[in-house]
Amino acid sequence: MDDVFLKLSEIQERSGAFIALYDGSDCLRFANRAFREAYFIEPDETPLWADLMRRNFAAARGTVIRTHAFEEWLVSTQSRRGKVGFRAFETDLADGRWLWMTETVDDNGWMLCIASDITSIRAAERKVRQDRDFAMKVAQTDELTGVANRRFVLARAEDVIAKAAALSKSVGCLAILDLDNFKYINDRFGHAAGDIVLRDFARKIHGQVRRLDSFGRIGGEEFALVLPATRLEEAELIVGRMLLQVRQSRPLRGNAEFTYTFSAGISEVRGNDTLDTLYERADKALYCAKLGGRDRIQVEKPTEGEPAAVG
Ligand code: GH3
Ligand code: MG
Ligand code: MG
Repeated sequence: MDDVFLKLSEIQERSGAFIALYDGSDCLRFANRAFREAYFIEPDETPLWADLMRRNFAAARGTVIRTHAFEEWLVSTQSRRGKVGFRAFETDLADGRWLWMTETVDDNGWMLCIASDITSIRAAERKVRQDRDFAMKVAQTDELTGVANRRFVLARAEDVIAKAAALSKSVGCLAILDLDNFKYINDRFGHAAGDIVLRDFARKIHGQVRRLDSFGRIGGEEFALVLPATRLEEAELIVGRMLLQVRQSRPLRGNAEFTYTFSAGISEVRGNDTLDTLYERADKALYCAKLGGRDRIQVEKPTEGEPAAVG
């Protein structure tokens, strides 16, 4: 077997196919020669995907990114990147080449990327395919905040539920995050200020979302966080860190005293869950967090008896 791996290792380095491997934190851990050359990566470098994209965008090389607002593009792209087991799409390089990129993600969030050069293939229909990809992005993105929308994030919850049903054990959690007293914020500071707070919240949380997790706006001032391969206690810690960060945020320019908070309810996926039952338990927990005084997390009741809320 060893000589097969050795052969594979030699031959992929010489291959015209573009091969890369990212870990669960989206750090590039391996790239073959073709990939390194296409994306301007030194042989011993292990950049984060976001940093690689950012520096290539600044130098107008690597992936063509059609935006004037790179950081906004990044939020929206990261909100959907690496959240499904397999994805394939067309992408172009600044040097004019077109690639057919595939992304395969395992349960720990490691992602294998394999691409091939399709510059000379079916170029005439490229515009149609690009329009379709753009339409897909729009259909999965929340317009105001740029993070994933209800449809996308709840579909990821359904992925986790499907896995739980197959394994008949818990394989993840759903957290519902709801801004506190948001009606008051709108009434007191105006709807535009409310929008700024929503965008600030989405950014703050997005910055702490792991690549395997999905975060999206499910309505008004309500957001969902899907945490695959995560136990209730760990989910509580993760959302707890988000609570701390949001408390420190000062989103309103000219009003340095303004702060805001959110409350969260968390449920853990069970073998017989549907999206409705999972959502209902997280929502019930959220309601308890609100009743308990807001600015806190409530995990679902484990069995009988009251669970303890943490602030
Ligand atoms: P609680 O702490 O119990 O969650 O109270 P709340 O005031 O946050 O909740 P409530 O459901 O009473 O009010 C939510 C408000 O969010 C009402 C609605 O006008 C506002 N809202 C919904 N979508 C948007 C939006 O896109 N932009 C702005 N600025 N406000 C929004
Ligand atoms: Mg609210
Ligand atoms: Mg609400």
